[in-house]
Amino acid sequence: MDSNPENETDAADGESIEPASQGPDFAKSSNGLLPAIAQDFRTGRVLMVAWMNEVAFAETLASGHAVYFSRSRGQLWRKGETSGHQQVVQEIRVDCDRDTILLLVEQQGAACHEGYESCFFRRVEPDRSLTVTEDRLVDPQTVYNQPKSE
Ligand SMILES: [Zn+2]
Repeated sequence: MDSNPENETDAADGESIEPASQGPDFAKSSNGLLPAIAQDFRTGRVLMVAWMNEVAFAETLASGHAVYFSRSRGQLWRKGETSGHQQVVQEIRVDCDRDTILLLVEQQGAACHEGYESCFFRRVEPDRSLTVTEDRLVDPQTVYNQPKSE
């Protein structure tokens, strides 16, 4: 590696990126929200898809737990705050355009508020009917005080 101090901003591997432009580019979204995919860091299974704004992303980085923005409630959604089913973030990635976030997480309990490991517990058949392909991990009635949509 070049020890020239002027080259310190060059990453050891990969291309160098200006510090101010690193991470997700929330300016690419008209409403400040970017889609965030949560994936099981061990199996690679897609667990859920939600939204993040700058504040949610910053808190996710700082806390090490996934924090989203709930469009239905219009506020930060600290995943697992009600259910205890937190997501411990192992790694964060952005896609090529830096407008989609990928969280590799250690899921505690069920990712889906309906009690399934993944929100994608149903298969869409050719006639558009849905087939549930797995069992619930938990009964949502025992996890949440009241029905709600996350
Ligand atoms: Zn779900």
